Amino acid sequence: MRIDEERCVGCRSCVVYCPVDAIKSSGEEVYVDQGLCVECAVCLKSGVCPQDALYQPLLEWPRILRSQFSDPLVSHPVTGIMGRGTAEMKTNDVTGRFREGDVGFAIEMGRPGISTSFIDVERVAMALVGKVDFEHLNPVTVLLDKDTGRFKDPRVRGERALSAIIECKTTEDRGLEVLNILKEVSEEIDTVFSLCVINRCRGHRIPFKTRMEEAGYTPRINGKTNVGLGRPLA
Ligand code: SF4
Ligand code: SF4
Repeated sequence: MRIDEERCVGCRSCVVYCPVDAIKSSGEEVYVDQGLCVECAVCLKSGVCPQDALYQPLLEWPRILRSQFSDPLVSHPVTGIMGRGTAEMKTNDVTGRFREGDVGFAIEMGRPGISTSFIDVERVAMALVGKVDFEHLNPVTVLLDKDTGRFKDPRVRGERALSAIIECKTTEDRGLEVLNILKEVSEEIDTVFSLCVINRCRGHRIPFKTRMEEAGYTPRINGKTNVGLGRPLA
């Protein structure tokens, strides 16, 4: 995002709309810190500017990633859905991603107010290589070299996003190992992440929940139910 300095009157009304505090001022001048801006377009869409001074220049690769991961109204070319996410986990009942004995992970890195650098996304992906299968229809996965977890295009490391979700799965037997890896790598990254763990019920039990509890984790059952409307595959 940019501010047209000819139009801007320095009223600062736009500052509070930025979820990552990227709109700065220096004396009379109000400007967008291009390093921090995640191109979410919240400031522009708020319509707060009385001068129409905020404008969105054409975003080129790799900066376009900021918008694809941060603006909920921009479709990602891989998934065809809007925002940084993916529908795959939410539609498990019809896609059959997670079968009995699988454990899935959705690692959502960054939040409004904090955001995430793609360097940190890469750090987590590299730590997981060889331990998990990355979800192929995921906006982060398509950027990665699957053998190393590094970004295929190193310029991606210089980008930021409001948040980015790494999705992957492994088996119940290897799930605790993955959790321990995530715990270790969390010490090396400069953002927050939330972790969803997916495991199919067997009878009235969630087998991996029991394993997590025995290992000292405290999983919280989160009531997000997505009912598939097609023929169940899982
Ligand atoms: S709201 Fe518009 S005029 Fe006011 S500081 Fe922001 S860009 Fe400038
Ligand atoms: S596009 Fe988003 S991140 Fe960039 S200045 Fe506007 S509100 Fe802040």
